[in-house]
Amino acid sequence: MNATSTEKKIALLGSTGSIGTQALDVIRRNPDKFKVEVLTAYSNDELLLKQALEFRPNVVVIVDESKYEALSERLWKEGIKTYCGEKSLEDVVQMDEVDLVLTALVGYSGLKPTIAAIKAKKPIALANKETLVVAGDLITNLANQYQVPLLPVDSEHSAIFQCLVGEFHNKIEKIYLTASGGPFRGWSAEKLASVTKGQALKHPNWEMGAKITIDSATLMNKGLEVIEAKWLFQLESNQIDTVVHPQSIIHSVVQFEDGSMKAQMGLPDMKLPIQYALAYPQRISSDFPRFNFMDYPELTFEKADQKTFKNLGLAYQALELGGTAACALNAANEITNAAFLQDKIKFLDIANINEQVMKESTFVKSPSIDDYVNCNSEARRLATELL
Ligand code: NDP
Ligand code: MG
Repeated sequence: MNATSTEKKIALLGSTGSIGTQALDVIRRNPDKFKVEVLTAYSNDELLLKQALEFRPNVVVIVDESKYEALSERLWKEGIKTYCGEKSLEDVVQMDEVDLVLTALVGYSGLKPTIAAIKAKKPIALANKETLVVAGDLITNLANQYQVPLLPVDSEHSAIFQCLVGEFHNKIEKIYLTASGGPFRGWSAEKLASVTKGQALKHPNWEMGAKITIDSATLMNKGLEVIEAKWLFQLESNQIDTVVHPQSIIHSVVQFEDGSMKAQMGLPDMKLPIQYALAYPQRISSDFPRFNFMDYPELTFEKADQKTFKNLGLAYQALELGGTAACALNAANEITNAAFLQDKIKFLDIANINEQVMKESTFVKSPSIDDYVNCNSEARRLATELL
């Protein structure tokens, strides 16, 4: 691939994941528009190597230091630099060559690299919603200060963002985030008490990484998205509603002051919002499958069951509380989500422990970055004790 000055040079954090590999597919289809400058993984050295050999980035980062030596030796022969460790993620996003940083890593790990990228004035294509959940005020203030755009990749937020094109001076009355309802839509608490991770990992409409798939089953994902929407679009919690839409065709809706509602729709395929964020402000052509109305004679809508799926209500509580509340909820959820995936706790324990951690963790109303770091550590410790 020959780089020309017109190509957008991308640092892709989390290239070996679900979003990462789909982003590379978008880039593969558009070699004249995008060039991969940085690829990073946590420990999947095999896939990272394969990706590096195909996309010829300038630099790769493998966070897991035990994988560094063999990988760097192999890539050195190819003229590709290799770094390791968490701190390297913060360094590589600042490189002069990088035009845009796609944050497709999972969980709290996205926070510090995103801060570093914003301070280096790199536009962010943001898939890593946890960063905004943990420290939304800090991140959006920094983005304003450095005049860095935060381009949403999450499908619902991309939908809202697309609906707002040309509307930036018009007041939003409210937004509706659509939710598929996950694999357990309509299930009672009794039935949920004994579900297995195998059942929870079978999402009806989307193929995603394990963490977000479990979050979708518990409705934590929608809760995290409510918080993400607050910060991306500067809304109050009573302006953010959710509606279950099992077909996942309407990706979200904006309602304006005059009552007009704009929705963005299409088949559920993350490549579209990824491509939109990478190419923004342009739309580029694609051959992704098109929606056919006759395949979907019914689009249906339901209220989310917040009584059974408590995580969604906890997210609204965290929004109301502000400060470090959402950071604590996110940290607890990273522990409980992983514990469920390791068969250490039952499905309903996830929300119960998350709730308990929110109650017990130290609350700071106007947190600094250090307060977020401390809150994250404390909430993880509390959640681990409660497992
Ligand atoms: P995956 O688990 O599939 O991939 C995560 C990526 O991050 C992998 O490259 C992984 O490396 C890397 N990674 C994991 N842990 C760390 C860490 N501690 N430090 C640095 N890198 C790490 O996740 P997804 O692609 O599903 O999700 C990524 C983000 O995008 C999440 O925030 C998710 O909420 C969001 N998102 C995802 C959607 C989807 O369809 N998948 C839809 C909307 C949002 P390795 O492979 O080596 O473990
Ligand atoms: Mg989403």
